[in-house]
Amino acid sequence: RAKAEGRGRAVLFEPAMEELRRNQRMLEDDLRSALERNQLYLAYQPKYGLLADRVVGCEALLRWDHAVHGSMNPARFVPAAEEAGFAPLLTRNVLGMVCTQIRAWMAEGLEIRVAVNISATLFASGQAVQLVREALASSGVPPRLLQIELTEQVFIGNPAAARDALQALHELGVTTALDDFGTGYSSLGYLQHLAFDVLKVDRTFVQDLSRGDGNNSSWIIETILRLAHGLGAEVVAEGVETPEQLAVLRDLGCDAAQGFLLGRPMTAAALAAAFRAAPGDPAALPVMDALPR
Ligand code: C2E
Ligand code: MG
Ligand code: MG
Ligand code: MG
Repeated sequence: RAKAEGRGRAVLFEPAMEELRRNQRMLEDDLRSALERNQLYLAYQPKYGLLADRVVGCEALLRWDHAVHGSMNPARFVPAAEEAGFAPLLTRNVLGMVCTQIRAWMAEGLEIRVAVNISATLFASGQAVQLVREALASSGVPPRLLQIELTEQVFIGNPAAARDALQALHELGVTTALDDFGTGYSSLGYLQHLAFDVLKVDRTFVQDLSRGDGNNSSWIIETILRLAHGLGAEVVAEGVETPEQLAVLRDLGCDAAQGFLLGRPMTAAALAAAFRAAPGDPAALPVMDALPR
């Protein structure tokens, strides 16, 4: 009986796998041509400093509006692109677009720090540092205006290589942030050796803050804050969506916040306007002037 069930499942399973492979190939072709035609672009989400009470920087988030399928989710197409071996090309493109944007803002008299996501695998291979070096050299962007966001996955595989790469970035004058902190494989021991400038608390912890005071999430964030500050790092809370969450984060002494409440990923022009707004000015929060998603 088990055998019959197993066979039945295999019959259902194989066409599904075949379809997956076909989708992956189609995605690769589309992505290759999108890259060639410069159809990928960036949205910028503000990082809001809680002490300064103003926008202090932003994160660049990749966008791809597919001709047929509409806007694609980077959490899905970026890994697919990497599987297809596009990671270096994609990262070079993103770094190039970011440096061009930073230069454009500088020409308007604005110094806006931009955080860029780089995948853990590319980072550990050491290629990412070279790409960052090249992007800085060819654009003339001051390294302090660039921040690299990495996930806890950099700890997996080759932590020694990750440490060397981090060190090399810091020597360039580029800062680093540990993204989605608290969700992945995190060893506190690594944190001590892999000095990050910023820890970004994952939004799952922030979401739970709205359920009231004294819950486990606020306690966890408090602990992360103490840990980070002890290591000389700042803490950015991700995914802040409600005024209650923001209030709790302020009370806890969180350094900065990011989330739909403070601004969705938006155009470069909208980000510049938010950055220009005076401290405490609601105009610093142009939640409405947003790109899709
Ligand atoms: P991430 O780096 O953790 O980026 C934060 C994600 O959360 C973004 O999704 C952002 O739009 C979303 N977000 C921001 N505030 C809120 C909020 O208040 N509520 C909710 N529910 N979501 C919020 P997005 O843009 O879809 O990007 C997803 C992931 O794709 C990113 O997660 C990052 O890991 C990856 N990604 C995006 N751009 C790039 C890129 O240029 N290179 C690489 N390697 N990965 C990228
Ligand atoms: Mg990020
Ligand atoms: Mg994140
Ligand atoms: Mg996240």
